[in-house]
Amino acid sequence: MSVTPAPGQKSAGANSPAPRSAADPRHGLSGLADGVLEAWLAAEGQPVYRARQIRGAVWRMNAQTADELNTLPAALRARVDAAFRVDTIAADEVTVADRGLTEKTLHLLSDGALIESVLMHYPARGFQSVGRPIHRERHTLCISSQAGCAVGCPFCATGELGFGRDLEAAEILDQVRHAALRLAAGGSGRQLTNVVFMGMGEPLLNLDRVLEAVAALADPRRFGLGARHVVVSTSGVVPAIRRLTQLGPQFTLAVSLHAARDPLRDVLVPLNRRWPVAEVVAAARDHARVTGRRVSYEYVMISGVNDTNADADALGVLLRGDLAHVNLIPMNPVAHTPWQASSPERVASFAARVRRNGVGVTVRANRGQDAGAACGQLAANRAGEPPAGAVAHRREVIIRQSEAALRGARNTEMPADLREAVADPIAGRGASH
Ligand code: SAH
Ligand code: SF4
Repeated sequence: MSVTPAPGQKSAGANSPAPRSAADPRHGLSGLADGVLEAWLAAEGQPVYRARQIRGAVWRMNAQTADELNTLPAALRARVDAAFRVDTIAADEVTVADRGLTEKTLHLLSDGALIESVLMHYPARGFQSVGRPIHRERHTLCISSQAGCAVGCPFCATGELGFGRDLEAAEILDQVRHAALRLAAGGSGRQLTNVVFMGMGEPLLNLDRVLEAVAALADPRRFGLGARHVVVSTSGVVPAIRRLTQLGPQFTLAVSLHAARDPLRDVLVPLNRRWPVAEVVAAARDHARVTGRRVSYEYVMISGVNDTNADADALGVLLRGDLAHVNLIPMNPVAHTPWQASSPERVASFAARVRRNGVGVTVRANRGQDAGAACGQLAANRAGEPPAGAVAHRREVIIRQSEAALRGARNTEMPADLREAVADPIAGRGASH
């Protein structure tokens, strides 16, 4: 593992989000909804083609400062700079793992909040006799949608942080632009092929901003990535899944299930106490039926907790006949829990039992463990940094709840920030504009 600060950038600060008031009030350019830039230019008395030039600098050049908007006259460049932020990320710190195949980036935002994204490289694999690669080279970026997370799953390092704040659309998209810039460095011509919302946060508790970001990713005039190459993962915010179904296919939906039985899922995914398994799966099933797009179910395999034959049978029966696919993820180590990944033999026999019900199953290879960059390890802090007071308290609660999971107990405490977040899950809570 090696740490590579981005050239010319100051290092990221301590892991305590600064107050919201310290934030820069200017919206990020990359997050402006369709037409906003045109309207602003018209109000400035500028010709509409300037919007194309600005978009070109933001999306083709991945500009990070106003100086890079060099197709604009100096006076307009200054006006743009006064009204918007060309980049919402103040500094990056990159950690490389898996001998260069995985890169975790810690991003410092303008109010001091810290988030992470993970870039994974998959080289082209195997050649058929006709000489065509079986798998083209892929570069997948895993991005964050919130600083911290209210849901508090006990096996996830982000859950331990608690909720910080929602990200703006531009803060989501600037993670993508930074990765695109790094990928293309040195004229390599490499491009991002996939973007997954599987970093920090619960995307469907920040749905409006996530939808704006997805629209920019899909728009050929902006990032231009096909909807099939974007995956959004949720721990099961049912009203938001239903809203997505009404909107039609925007991306591939992944549901983090982790248990097919309520008493266990109540503890592994505390959101289950608000929307239980049957409601989550019914909403996902309707989503697949209406959009014609297969839903993926994520299932973290935790030794002795959710990996028994009975759990496999319950999962198989639950999803039998659905347009669905299960990804089994052996649990990545997280410092605050004593839990461990199921053994490869247990994972294989669990997979076989689920398949008996006609449900497709893939076992995911773990990536990035040596840099704390694997699924569930994103804690936006530096290795070895001791937890702050609030985090330490939450850690205690999570450990108590983890023990409750093993006893099969249902009546565990719901984190206060989660109670608040689900009171009005999709109504623009903390909307940035
Ligand atoms: N909050 C969303 C998206 C981010 S988490 C969600 O939960 O779906 C992305 C994926 O990583 C989820 O499926 C999550 O359950 C999984 N994950 C969390 N902690 C993990 C761990 N310690 N090991 C393996 N996967 C983990
Ligand atoms: Fe939040 Fe997802 Fe982690 Fe659960 S697994 S705490 S929902 S980021």
